Amino acid sequence: MEKEEMQAYEKAFLIAEDTVGLAQKLVKENLRALELAEKVEKRILELGGKPAWPVNISINEIAAHYTPSIGDNLVLKEDDFVKVDIGVQVNGYICDRAFTVKVGSKSDPMIKASEKALDECLKIIKPGVKVCEISEVCENTVNEMGFNVIRNLSGHRIDRYKQHANPSIPNGKNSIQDEIQAGNVYAMEVFVTNGSGFVIESSPTEIFQYNRDAAVRLWEARKILELAKNEFDRLPFAKRWIAGVSPLKIDMALKQLLEAEAIIEFPPLKEESSGMVAVTEKSVIVK
Ligand code: MN
Repeated sequence: MEKEEMQAYEKAFLIAEDTVGLAQKLVKENLRALELAEKVEKRILELGGKPAWPVNISINEIAAHYTPSIGDNLVLKEDDFVKVDIGVQVNGYICDRAFTVKVGSKSDPMIKASEKALDECLKIIKPGVKVCEISEVCENTVNEMGFNVIRNLSGHRIDRYKQHANPSIPNGKNSIQDEIQAGNVYAMEVFVTNGSGFVIESSPTEIFQYNRDAAVRLWEARKILELAKNEFDRLPFAKRWIAGVSPLKIDMALKQLLEAEAIIEFPPLKEESSGMVAVTEKSVIVK
């Protein structure tokens, strides 16, 4: 890894560490999710990074990919499993972190299982280790603690300006023979549930990402595409980040962009049996 790349990663990792700490302090009963997301995103910018995606605040059976909408009134309640996923980028070099808090509780066995399994996975992530070996440790650790992993969610390699690069490192056992390689960055995330262990797409969709240039009719759509490409660096963005473009035509513009495949969408992912979900995630540079 080049020195410049290493320095950018180090900065992204430090900012992520700081903002995870901030978010952990902020999560409390009656806090608006929107306030939490905005405060974390503001801090990332103040520290000289950019959010690599909107802060995801996914609650209870929502495993991932929810971010507050424009004027969102969602409030954190006692006993909610609040999952906060933070991405920080510095010149496209990304750190991906997530944690879970059960509001009003100091500890929770399901959150513990996700933290423990992540620790066990990180212990064995070294050059030459196969993806299937990491997944096996992940699922075994979670099962031993009495819970299920979410089988269709994965850790993954991270590349420059690419939040999910191959290979994926599934939470559940598999036969993937790809090996961990020195000089690569990996985000390991462990999703644990007391449900059946499978997520399905849900709604409303609040997160989108640039995909390709395409001709679209509405000028609002063209403006959003320009922002997606240049301002948000082709990384995921929130609908609330583009609220200023057009309060009235935002949905129509997004629809045009989706139809033209100029952008892609990330609907919230919900545990199919409505089980509660906890996640813990860290990024590592493998040397
Ligand atoms: Mn991730």
